[in-house]
Amino acid sequence: MSLTTRVLIGMLSGLLLGVVLRLLGGVEGTTSPLGAFLDTYLVSGVFEVVGKVFVISLKLLVVPLVFVSLVCGTSALGEDNRRMGPMAGKTILLYLLTTGIAISMALMMAVLVGPGVGINLGEETTYAAKEAPSIKQVIINIFPANPVKAMAEGNMLQIIVFALLFGVAVSKSETHGKKIGEFFTSLNEVVMKMVTLLMELAPYGVFCLMAKLFANLGIDAIVGLLKYFLTVLAVLLLHGLGVYSILLKTLSGLNPLMFLKKIRPVWLFAFSTASSGATIPVTLKTVEQKLGVKNTIASFTVPLGATINMDGTAIMQGVATVFIAQAFNIDIGIGGYLMVILTATLASIGTAGVPGVGLITLAMVLQQVGLPVEGIALIIGVDRLLDMVRTAVNVTGDSMVSCVVAKTEKELDTDWFNKVDAESA
Ligand code: ASP
Repeated sequence: MSLTTRVLIGMLSGLLLGVVLRLLGGVEGTTSPLGAFLDTYLVSGVFEVVGKVFVISLKLLVVPLVFVSLVCGTSALGEDNRRMGPMAGKTILLYLLTTGIAISMALMMAVLVGPGVGINLGEETTYAAKEAPSIKQVIINIFPANPVKAMAEGNMLQIIVFALLFGVAVSKSETHGKKIGEFFTSLNEVVMKMVTLLMELAPYGVFCLMAKLFANLGIDAIVGLLKYFLTVLAVLLLHGLGVYSILLKTLSGLNPLMFLKKIRPVWLFAFSTASSGATIPVTLKTVEQKLGVKNTIASFTVPLGATINMDGTAIMQGVATVFIAQAFNIDIGIGGYLMVILTATLASIGTAGVPGVGLITLAMVLQQVGLPVEGIALIIGVDRLLDMVRTAVNVTGDSMVSCVVAKTEKELDTDWFNKVDAESA
């Protein structure tokens, strides 16, 4: 059985078990003796421990993998490293473009559907917004003062900057650089092997994550916010399946069905962990080994995308803004909508791909257009589930852009891309 199938089975059985446990009362804070037993030993016991250890182990690989792989990628460019600039420019432009499309579509759909029309407000609207960083600070924060600190904090953009500089220096250092380059190539193989080993454990990790999550996930909140929930979901699916397919086909000529089929493990991991950051090892491995994108491209586009490209998040923010505006009966006008597009696109840069970060940047968007930040309290109840789906969209976007950039830079092995059983994971 392929790994993808096993992960899928782990996910679905975890989900079912979670629902059953919930029905049996195994919920945090329960008073029934059976429920308390189930919660203590299973839900908040084994499942929580195994699930957390799984996500922690994925995160463990992110910094070494991104650094080593990017140094390899950049140093391998050798004399070609002048191509780095246009390649980086193209990548960033595509990331911004897809986010722009995502949020515009979300705004239009939300205005059409009107998810917040007729909502009765006034109660339970308290939400303490965390301070969102200013654009100025975001730019300054891209540059590391201390590479060790950047790595210790897992600051992806700073790690990327350092790795690029290091890789370019390696490629320019002739014999010494060659030795270091070879060392990093071997190191890259070893770190990739660690990813493979860890992925073997994924079905169990995913099973526990799902069981814990669904045991504690009430659907009452979703019922109350059904219109909002479904609008976000519809736009996420439209973007993740439709827009990406069209863009991939028109910009690179590659087969979208093959693409969507091959990246299944990526979105399964993203869905279960709700973190593009923690999914980086899987995204990188899949994009390189199944889709045939060369390391020179993928080592840059994937970690960068996990940090700055959040189309799914932008979609949630677009719908949420309209929802909150309607719920509070505030008309933000066309200028307001344009401002939302701009702020949400920029807000995704510099915020790490971790669970729930979209809500923090949403506060920034709301403030920018003068909407009450407390409105976030209205949608928080259904955010976790949407977070999982939008993270899957985020990583699909990263993979799609990686393919387009690689294809147009002639760094994609098209035969490998089209090979059905390439790297049987
Ligand atoms: N969880 C998302 C990610 O990691 C970010 C968010 O929308 O909160 O990509």
